[in-house]
Amino acid sequence: MIKLPTLSLNSKLFWVLFAPAFLVSILVGVFLLSTRFSDLNRNLVERTQHITDQVANTSAYAIVFSDQNMMYRILQNALNNPDISSVQLFNSEQKMIAELGKTSSSDKILLTENSGITEQNGRLESISAIHYTSNALDDVFNGQTDLFNTQDQRTLIGWVKIEANKASIQIEKYQYTGLIVFILVLFNILIILGAFHASKTLTQPINKLASALNKLVKGQFSTAKLMKLPPEYTAIQKDLLDLTERLEHHNEELIAGIEQSTENIRRSMDSMEEKSAQLHIANREAMESNRLKSQFLANISHEVRTPLNAILGYTKTLQKDIADPQHRIYVDTIEQSTNSLLAIIGDILDFSKIEAGKLSLENNHFNLKTLIDEVYQTLSINLLSKDKQIDLVPEFGQDVPEWFIGDSTRVRQILTNLIGNAIKFTHQGSVRTRVTIATQSAPDITLSFQIIDTGIGIAEHKINRLFKPFSQVDTSTTRQFGGTGLGLVITKKLVEQMNGKIEVSSDPSIGSTFRFTINLKASSKGRANHLPLNFHTVLLEPSQTYKSYLDGYLNSIGVSCSTCSDLEQMVMMLNKNHRDIDVVLLSVAPNDQSVAEARELVLYSAQQFSIPCILMIQPPGQITHYPDLKNICSDILLKPISHDRLYHALQNLNAAPSSVPSIPKLNAQHEKIKGLSILAVDDSPINLQLLNHWLLPIGLDVSLAYSGQQAIDMAMSKQFDLIFMDIQMPEMDGMETTQHLRQLDTYKNIPIIALTAHALGSEQQQMLSSGMNAYLTKPIDEELLISTIEKWCSNTDSFQDQVDAKLVGIFDLDKALSIVDGKEEIAKEMFDMLADSLSAEKKLIQHHLENQDTQKLIEVVHRIHGASKYTGTINIARHANFLETHLKELGMEEVEGVADDFIEAIDELLNHRQLIPWTQALDSSTTNA
Ligand code: ADP
Repeated sequence: MIKLPTLSLNSKLFWVLFAPAFLVSILVGVFLLSTRFSDLNRNLVERTQHITDQVANTSAYAIVFSDQNMMYRILQNALNNPDISSVQLFNSEQKMIAELGKTSSSDKILLTENSGITEQNGRLESISAIHYTSNALDDVFNGQTDLFNTQDQRTLIGWVKIEANKASIQIEKYQYTGLIVFILVLFNILIILGAFHASKTLTQPINKLASALNKLVKGQFSTAKLMKLPPEYTAIQKDLLDLTERLEHHNEELIAGIEQSTENIRRSMDSMEEKSAQLHIANREAMESNRLKSQFLANISHEVRTPLNAILGYTKTLQKDIADPQHRIYVDTIEQSTNSLLAIIGDILDFSKIEAGKLSLENNHFNLKTLIDEVYQTLSINLLSKDKQIDLVPEFGQDVPEWFIGDSTRVRQILTNLIGNAIKFTHQGSVRTRVTIATQSAPDITLSFQIIDTGIGIAEHKINRLFKPFSQVDTSTTRQFGGTGLGLVITKKLVEQMNGKIEVSSDPSIGSTFRFTINLKASSKGRANHLPLNFHTVLLEPSQTYKSYLDGYLNSIGVSCSTCSDLEQMVMMLNKNHRDIDVVLLSVAPNDQSVAEARELVLYSAQQFSIPCILMIQPPGQITHYPDLKNICSDILLKPISHDRLYHALQNLNAAPSSVPSIPKLNAQHEKIKGLSILAVDDSPINLQLLNHWLLPIGLDVSLAYSGQQAIDMAMSKQFDLIFMDIQMPEMDGMETTQHLRQLDTYKNIPIIALTAHALGSEQQQMLSSGMNAYLTKPIDEELLISTIEKWCSNTDSFQDQVDAKLVGIFDLDKALSIVDGKEEIAKEMFDMLADSLSAEKKLIQHHLENQDTQKLIEVVHRIHGASKYTGTINIARHANFLETHLKELGMEEVEGVADDFIEAIDELLNHRQLIPWTQALDSSTTNA
């Protein structure tokens, strides 16, 4: 559809008035012209006809008498008429006999008796026949007829043809048309003027109204008020004025309202700012108090662990030579209580770390299967007693990889807590652990764990209390087993930190199942390959659960297994099939009868059939005859039996079928370290005596120093092979003492091991950077102490090698030197300048991060980036580059991770700063300075 242009009201009104008048004037003009034209035509025709008739009548006598003069007179007469252009006369033979005027056609025309007018080429052609009527009198006079027999006679004697010219009426037509057009034009001009004026008069007030409203909309009330409308619009103008005033009033009210609200908002923003500042301060204070709390807890734990160290150490020493059973019970109780006190302190420390958000996960390769076995082993030794016989089954899915990357200590803590709880709250039946893969998308693996027990269960309404701090579901069991009620809270936090979830389902009549998932990374280390053994074994295991656990595993390593339900059946099988049997697997219960029977069977099968026997027993603490049994059988496996231990026991049968495997003796190992001279430094005489007590009997030369200064003096006069160093000592602490010792040429590479009750990560770093090789946490375990001596005294790496290993990736001395042409002094000066500024810069970075100030942050990072490129601080340079690029390209979006890495790189450098091997001369000059 064609879109007509939209017309203004003014134009519309103009066209409405003008168009009808214009149309009517056109119609009237056309009508007048057409009537006038037809009148003129008709008149001309009538005149021509009349003249033709006249000529025909008058010329009859002239033709009859052939009077030429008369003919021409008549023709001249006709031609005198202005409309006539030519006149012709024809005789009866159609021959022209007279002609006047100019004829336009020379064609021969057909003349008939009928007369008529035709129009041709703008001319009228009129033809009429000429008749002669001879009356009787004529004939009488002429003697042709008698008087009484007279009659009129009409005879055709010729024709007259007249041509009339239309030119005269044409002129008249033009004149008339001109007149009419002139009148019409005049009329229309008048109409146009009228319509124009009328439309203008009508629309002007409307336009004025519209512009007034427009002004109102724009809030120009004064202009709207000044508007003048024609008198007919007085009422409207009055209303408009009214409306304007009201609007003005409303507007004023509105502005006042807005001003008021703005003022209110400003005030509340001020108060919000104030509140936010208060909150900020409160938050700071809370964080500070949290920090103080965790510091306090760390200190308390230190203070408590130190005396516990002595208590545990001496308890263990006492246990060795107690004869009186009653006394043994007392000492055992002291040991157990001390251990649980230690566990509680550990829990509280973990809890405070989690609360303070300071718990960070480490990443190391670990064997999960071994870890679970170890957890079971440890817990079974600690928690199972003679009266409590439950099956501990560490099931590990065949398709689950054994090696993972993750924080093994924390995974162990989770499992220890859940499996420990399960064992504690189960009096009969089993505690099983199942591990399966939940999801896997390389390199991430989500593992699903289930710890299923058949214990006392938890009432449904109490389940939601489980993960709340310091809550214990059942106070009666708590009294029996102790605990703080923090275990599950810590477990849950740890699981969540490993991107997992924990849940529990429990039924007091069936038991509880704790399920949790954790996210670990796949390790490149493979599964231990258990080649098929191709054995046949007879198994006596009273517990159904355990039997199927063992049976399943034996089958998977190619060992076929016949099971029997009691000893008689076993003896029958041996008698009958002894040729096919390679080994006997026998479970021994912790009671005298079972032990005696086992001994008999072992001897019988060995003596009669030379079939070796592997015994499966509860932890040695519960079987007093453990040493006797060990001497007669091929191997003893402690329950719960791990797959690996069982496999190795079976495999060893091949190597030495009849030999009795000997458990490695401590004393045999100690040969390696016998004669080493050890310096122990501690301000507490009790702890020193304890170390002395452990180390002297195994042939070590132990010297004791009661302060840092004494240690340095002793070290200068005697060369020690290893130093144990307490951290917190009055006057000169362990770290400072170590720094001094490291400056002695002879102590550059001697292992110095910290003995500490400190447990926070930052302090561990400080110890290492002060020059210590490793640390042992109090309370110190005798075996761990000895194995540490073994490890460090056989370690051929010099201390410098170890330091270099630690600095790799953090600091590149060669690079720092190459930039300043090997001038170490300058390199160190530049490095110190950067390192000294880093603490302040770190705070600045954290501040800008908090305030989301990208520009300022870029400035700081750029500054550090520039400096770090010339000071060998490769890790900082790398992370500064990442952060700077990120900030420039993406701004603050998702910057946290990158910024954290950068800050971590700064911390790492500051922690290892002391380890940088600037040359001796420089070092002492700095120390002096
Ligand atoms: P605690 O350190 O005191 O053991 P936990 O947080 O580990 O604290 O456990 C809290 C309580 O949950 C326990 O005291 C016990 O009542 C209940 N509980 C935990 N595990 C089990 C279980 N497997 N069977 C029955 N009760 C359990």
